[in-house]
Amino acid sequence: MIVNMSEKATEEQISHIIERIREAGYQPHVTRGVERTIVAAVGNGRRNEIEALQVAPGVDNVVAIAQPFKLVSRQVKPERSIVNVGGVRIGGPGVVIIAGPCSVESPEQLLSTAHAIKRAGATMLRGGAYKPRTSPYDFQGLGLEALKILRQAREQTGLPVVTEVMSTEDVEIIGEHVDMLQVGARNMQNFALLRRLATVKKPILLKRGPSATVKEWLLAAEYLLSGGNSEVVLCERGIKTFETEMRDLSHLPVIADPSHGTGKQSLIAAVSRAAVAVGADGLIIEVHPCPERALSDGAQSLDFAGFERVMKAIAEPLRRAAVAEDVVRA
Ligand code: PEP
Ligand code: MN
Repeated sequence: MIVNMSEKATEEQISHIIERIREAGYQPHVTRGVERTIVAAVGNGRRNEIEALQVAPGVDNVVAIAQPFKLVSRQVKPERSIVNVGGVRIGGPGVVIIAGPCSVESPEQLLSTAHAIKRAGATMLRGGAYKPRTSPYDFQGLGLEALKILRQAREQTGLPVVTEVMSTEDVEIIGEHVDMLQVGARNMQNFALLRRLATVKKPILLKRGPSATVKEWLLAAEYLLSGGNSEVVLCERGIKTFETEMRDLSHLPVIADPSHGTGKQSLIAAVSRAAVAVGADGLIIEVHPCPERALSDGAQSLDFAGFERVMKAIAEPLRRAAVAEDVVRA
């Protein structure tokens, strides 16, 4: 349920509503908008007691939240969210470009990539330390050693860093080394991990599961917000199923991952342009000094020159529609 306060509601009136929501057995979540404050009652409580608040002083109206997800929905927070990652704002007017290797392989590989992507205009660095690999025989990541290299790259370049966390055991150590924690596609519904990350004071990049609907993806984000972490960015990376619903449901920023979405170097530029054209708040792109030698995801990684070309391609205008003179008549 949502309690919409009137524009003239006083702080005392808002506090009273918060108290009443608690008494009715719900968790209160307050969103202070430019014009008015919204207090959401989430959880399982006594609904009739919330409905009765429509006659409380300072209340405009009380409405039910239509979606199964609550705190991520636009109903609770009509303004779009901006997530600050070490000074980079995701969800603002600019498209945030995150780039770097799939996996951190060595100090030379990561540091050269960090400097190259910075020169080309990227504003954040990515790099996997703990890798979710389909086969147990594939390279699993350098773990703590990679975290130290990522930290060194941030010190040298000033670029905030994002890396994947796969297990609750690693949350603390990863949180000490990087600016943003990524939940990989395979872990989107790892609820123990989501609950743990909800208590962390770092932003989370939540990738969409390979077969997840938008509703399931937003409910995964709801675990983070309802547990106390509202610094969440969604990352679309392509799905294996069909989607029935693709509307403007949430206020959270959304970035696109053309690398894992296509799996192919040659498609990165076009899909990056398409994502920016449809309003993505950012991109996360895999870059490697020598993709043919990459220990993971080489086929979809760009080299430095390829990444520069993509950065230029993103800035190019879309093609104009053909006009009459362009039509060649037989
Ligand atoms: C990655 O970012 O390298 C990765 C493994 O991504 P995903 O979880 O989307 O497969
Ligand atoms: Mn990868």
